[in-house]
Amino acid sequence: MICGRTEKQFMEEVERFHGFVAPGLLIGGYMVDAIREKISEKVEADAIVETAHCLPDAVQILTPCTIGNGWLKIVNLGKFAITMFDRHTFKGVRVYMDLKKLGSHKNIYNWYMGLVSKKDLPKEILIGSILEAKKDILSSKEVVLREHGKRVKKSTVAVCENCHEAYFASQGDVCLACQGKDYYEITR
Ligand SMILES: [Zn+2]
Repeated sequence: MICGRTEKQFMEEVERFHGFVAPGLLIGGYMVDAIREKISEKVEADAIVETAHCLPDAVQILTPCTIGNGWLKIVNLGKFAITMFDRHTFKGVRVYMDLKKLGSHKNIYNWYMGLVSKKDLPKEILIGSILEAKKDILSSKEVVLREHGKRVKKSTVAVCENCHEAYFASQGDVCLACQGKDYYEITR
C-alpha cells in the first residue's frame, strides 16, 4: 500500500498525472508513505524534494503540497530524497535511497547508478523489483530545517520601466528579463 492506495491504484494515478509510470515515481510513492508513517496526516506538513525528477510528482499526487501552492519546494541537491516537516516547528523527516540497502536489490542499484541500459533492464522488470523491495531500500532521519522552511510571501508588484510588464519588485529596479536573465529571443 502507498498512502492508503494499492500499488496498482497509485500507478494508475501516476500514469494520469505524470504521463507514464516512471520507476522513480513509484519509489517516490514509497518515500512519501514512509514519511507519513512518522508524520501524521493531521500535521500541516510542507515538503522539499532534492531533485526535479519524478519526486515532485510523487508529493503532488499523495499530499496537498504542490509547487503552485508553495508548500512543495525543490532544493536541487541532485539527490533522491524527500523531506516533509511541520510548517510551524520546522521539525520533520528526511527519507532517502540508502545505497547500503541496495546491495540486495541489484536491479534497482544498477538502474539508480546508471549502470544498465533500458534494453538490458526493461521497465517492467525494474518496476517488479521495486514492488518487491517496497520500503526496504529507504532510510530516514529526523531533521530540523535550517533553511527553506518558511513559506515565501509574494513580493510586491512593480512595473518594469523598460518592458512595461508587471514583475515582482524584489527582483530589482527593472525586471529580471530586462537584466539579461531572460530565456527567449522575441521572433515576432
Ligand atoms: Zn522588463
